[in-house]
Amino acid sequence: MSGHGEFDIIREFFTRPVHDETVVRGIGDDAALLTVPAGEALVVTTDTLVAGRHFPDHAHANDIGWKSLAVNLSDLAAMGATTRWVSLAITLPSNDASFLRDFSHGFFALADQAHVNLIGGDTTRGPLSITVTAMGSVPVAQALRRDSARPDDDLYVSGTLGDAGLGLQLALEQWQDDITAADRAHALERLHRPQPRLALGLALRGIATACMDVSDGLAQDLNHLLRASHVGAELALDTLPLSPALRAIDPAFATVLALTSGDDYELLFTAPASTRDAIAALPVPCTRIGRLTATPGLTFLRDGLPVAMPVAGYTHF
Ligand code: ADP
Ligand code: MG
Repeated sequence: MSGHGEFDIIREFFTRPVHDETVVRGIGDDAALLTVPAGEALVVTTDTLVAGRHFPDHAHANDIGWKSLAVNLSDLAAMGATTRWVSLAITLPSNDASFLRDFSHGFFALADQAHVNLIGGDTTRGPLSITVTAMGSVPVAQALRRDSARPDDDLYVSGTLGDAGLGLQLALEQWQDDITAADRAHALERLHRPQPRLALGLALRGIATACMDVSDGLAQDLNHLLRASHVGAELALDTLPLSPALRAIDPAFATVLALTSGDDYELLFTAPASTRDAIAALPVPCTRIGRLTATPGLTFLRDGLPVAMPVAGYTHF
């Protein structure tokens, strides 16, 4: 990059003092040098955000910075990992100092909250695209996987579902119905500033038999978990946890949003019935939405009876 060059950008916007004994070398060498705590496995995840696809073209840089990190930390939470390190590859159309300042503020606001250090990255010119690699660690036997759910386990989801889907309709100006200012603000906050469930992921070690985050819609993500674990599920539609904003809209559409809209970043997990008291005491409200079956497939229930529902989630291709 010319003018305010690549190295000035890295120094001004992305280099901060790191006080962490696991970071032997961070930004400024050819590669970062990190030490994984003894007895723990390294947990690594990468997600790319592309302008116009993962966030609207007019999204605020601050929110883009936050969300590009949040979606990655959510994957670490879903593995039960302690979040530790992150690298950032950013491609920018131009050297826009105000964009970079706001982006880095949003990014570091969440990095500080999650106690992760930025340990490297790459800076290039081109259409706006952000790739974050987040890393953490977990004792291998305590990692929360997708392939270890068992028949008769309870099925849970944290928080509420469908809020980011409503937020996306609002952001794209596709929402025609009345909505209160408070409900609008809530839905947009869930879309632009998702809160990865980090404390919950850690608390689920030793409780959950399987876990994943809900990024592409509950129905689609649950199907992934069921296939990986070779089990099925009965999901009670009347138990889906909905925020006041979702309860204020048409109930049938609220259910569709809760089942199929992405970007909520809640945790979907399974646990034996013996853990119900432990789950009630978790740091985030978790709702029991069904149970697993030995027979494969996902069955939706209303008033205890099977019903047909659309289950398409977001796919890129
Ligand atoms: P190299 O040419 O060895 O790949 P770079 O010139 O790409 O190194 O980067 C110099 C240093 O700055 C490296 O430590 C790299 O990890 C870091 N870095 C580059 N871009 C970013 C960024 N956007 N955020 C954080 N660190 C970055
Ligand atoms: Mg490089």
